[in-house]
Amino acid sequence: MHYKFTLPKLHYAYDALEPYIDAATMQIHYEKHHQDYVTNLNKALEGHPELHQKSLEELLAHIKTLPEAIRTAIQNYGGGHANHSLFWLFMKRGGGGEPRGDIGSAISQQFGSFSAFQEKMNNTAKTRFGSGWAWLIMNQMGTLEVISTPNQDSPSMVGAQPLLGIDVWEHAYYLKYQNKRIDYVQAWWNTVDWSYVEDRYHSSR
Ligand code: MN
Repeated sequence: MHYKFTLPKLHYAYDALEPYIDAATMQIHYEKHHQDYVTNLNKALEGHPELHQKSLEELLAHIKTLPEAIRTAIQNYGGGHANHSLFWLFMKRGGGGEPRGDIGSAISQQFGSFSAFQEKMNNTAKTRFGSGWAWLIMNQMGTLEVISTPNQDSPSMVGAQPLLGIDVWEHAYYLKYQNKRIDYVQAWWNTVDWSYVEDRYHSSR
């Protein structure tokens, strides 16, 4: 995907992730928040035609080399667009359960067990101060790792491949869960599309 960036199609209905994520949150999150990231990313790049052939991943991976005047905008809005485009794909109707296949084995091998991994993700999501994300990534060494990014920073900015991630901005959960972030995180596990995570794992190696 290159300039101009557009909101990707959502492959399920707003109520598809009920009761874990409510339809109103999904609609506002997708139509308003994600759209705003796309709009502002395009606006930031408007006067920089030399960057219009770059993919979003390229822009983020080389964030430090971008013109200073638009660097923060690309970091925030470009990161926001990249993160949310993935986030919708990490979830599906009838998701959840324990991962099988290669990603299931890799998680058990790296973290000891699936529940140990889940606990690590939960804790990372819970302790992210303010707004941000908790991620399962493939780092530059080719190892699975759980990390957190602040605001809309993308794992691509540090050369990591995001395999799974959860948005812990209040806009992702406040309507249904108010201040109870951990209840949202625990419910979210029931939406995870492990076959997509498996695909990402295979293409990241
Ligand atoms: Mn969000």
